[in-house]
Amino acid sequence: MAFDVLDDEQRELRDLVRTLARERIAPRAAEIDASHEFPWDIVGLYRENDIFGLFFAEEFGGLGTGALLSLVAIEEVAKVCATSALILAVQELGSLGLKLAGDEEQKERFLPRLASGEWLAAYALTESGSGSDSAAMRTTARREGDSYVLDGSKRFITNAGVASLYTVFAKTDPEAGHAGISAFLVEADAAGFAVARLEPKLGIAGSTTGELTFDGCRVPAGNLLGEEGEGFRIAMRILDRSRPGVAAQALGIAQGATDYALEYAKTRETMGRPIAEHQLIAAKLADMETECEAARGLLYRFGQMLDAGVGGPELTKASAMAKLKCGDVAMAATTEAVQILGGYGYIKEYPVERFMRDAKITQIYEGTQEIQRLVIAREMLKETRAFLLGGVAA
Ligand SMILES: Cc1cc2nc3c(=O)[nH]c(=O)nc-3n(C[C@H](O)[C@H](O)[C@H](O)COP(=O)(O)OP(=O)(O)OC[C@H]3O[C@@H](n4cnc5c(N)ncnc54)[C@H](O)[C@@H]3O)c2cc1C
Repeated sequence: MAFDVLDDEQRELRDLVRTLARERIAPRAAEIDASHEFPWDIVGLYRENDIFGLFFAEEFGGLGTGALLSLVAIEEVAKVCATSALILAVQELGSLGLKLAGDEEQKERFLPRLASGEWLAAYALTESGSGSDSAAMRTTARREGDSYVLDGSKRFITNAGVASLYTVFAKTDPEAGHAGISAFLVEADAAGFAVARLEPKLGIAGSTTGELTFDGCRVPAGNLLGEEGEGFRIAMRILDRSRPGVAAQALGIAQGATDYALEYAKTRETMGRPIAEHQLIAAKLADMETECEAARGLLYRFGQMLDAGVGGPELTKASAMAKLKCGDVAMAATTEAVQILGGYGYIKEYPVERFMRDAKITQIYEGTQEIQRLVIAREMLKETRAFLLGGVAA
């Protein structure tokens, strides 16, 4: 039996997701990509099989099976369809604000509907003028009696138009920089809230990416997450825990492309033998597999750390390293998969060109690769290590 970090119960659930991915999602993947339509049938499949429950605690209707398994589930789906995997990752991204900063009333009001998948969630931080520099946001929220009134817009929001609940960040004190940002729960039917447009894009074509507008949008004061001014800290704590979801999506894409290229290379013959037996192709396959396994090591380690209750700077660094490595491996492995298929890699009859287009976004969203490197280096600079300077241990 192959070495496996999962216990028996986790393995059973992983196998359920794997079977659904292979038998129900894989046959839809090319169509989802071509149609650019959000796959509600896949949401239905997740609901029927309690797959959203993997991301939630038992007290709120989830399965309580932990972070590692939830990452494995995203990876399994991404091996066949990155858009369908993103639905799971964003359900977690959009729910984390509630899990980390919600009060009991808020959790009871919303989490069960998210755990069952009755509602989809979204996370709205980015604006047209503020992506990597999220504290430069311009959306504002002002208190009026029992409500907050939001004005402004958000750009590039995944699940725009399909989510029922948005975690939205806005400035309650525009002069106070990071410390002036607050986090709100905005329901899709809130007055003054609209989805202004959806973006056509390179990959993850079935996922919606849209612009949200808040025009005097009124939300109950009870929808503030945490305290006023805590929004930036909440946003960063969310990203520490959600980035590995993108890493899992990236790893699944990389492994899916590697597996496909391997099977192809075993049967495609040139110069009298399968291309897998040409050393230059064999070397590519070996590198792709080794890189996937290295990336998996970082990703699963993060899952185990979170399940063990690790937090703080150690978790921040592990999260950024998993996202950085898995995203880069996804881009490299999918590019090589296209190369291994030659001309067939470039045409839509085969899935590897889709894998390559889907891979690119994992190097961009939830913090670009450049930002991950900054985060990792910042944490390294805070650490104390024994090192050698000019031959002298310092
Ligand atoms: C398909 C898609 C889905 C998305 N989903 C969501 C979502 O659900 N919610 C959400 O809030 N956002 C979402 N985003 C936004 C995404 O997180 C941002 O696009 C991303 O963080 C980069 O921000 P930006 O596009 O403004 O690029 P910029 O910040 O303008 O960066 C441009 C380039 O400069 C680099 N750069 C920036 N600052 C530095 C620096 N200090 N040092 C070195 N290099 C730097 C960047 O790495 C990048 O290469 C999504 C984006 C896309 C395309």
